[in-house]
Amino acid sequence: MHHIHEDYLRSGLFGIQDGLVSTTGVVIGISAGVEHKAIIILAAFVAVTVEASSMAAGQYSSEKAVHQMDRTGKHTDSLILGALIMFFGYLLGGMVPIIPTVLFNQPQARIFAILAAFIGLFILGYTKGHLVKVKPLRSALELFIIGAIATTIGLIVGYLFRV
Ligand SMILES: [Zn+2]
Repeated sequence: MHHIHEDYLRSGLFGIQDGLVSTTGVVIGISAGVEHKAIIILAAFVAVTVEASSMAAGQYSSEKAVHQMDRTGKHTDSLILGALIMFFGYLLGGMVPIIPTVLFNQPQARIFAILAAFIGLFILGYTKGHLVKVKPLRSALELFIIGAIATTIGLIVGYLFRV
């Protein structure tokens, strides 16, 4: 088995998780606030690309600081590659709630987006648990709860600012 640098792994898992959680919150929140499918899709694509770029920049600069402070020589990973993994990981996670939103009409699309997101989070949490050797089910449940909280916040804000 090939050895994957742990910084790439962290960047990828974090990107997918954040893309999934944030975009689900955006999709659910916007769809609670507006009826037009085109607006929901537009908002979701703007949010996912802006956030993925911002997260990639954040990954680059925070990892750069870690590398500058590192005296152990463990950090042989590329900063650019770490940022790219974050970017595409975020987009990948974001596509999970976006695809049902594009394919179906509201309000069914919202239910499918939530279902897809929770299945995605569960799979991600389980995989993460396996990789970092903690209880997979516990790890999955943890992500599930985090996702539920973020989605509920999106839903509340969407209803409050309904147009
Ligand atoms: Zn590093």
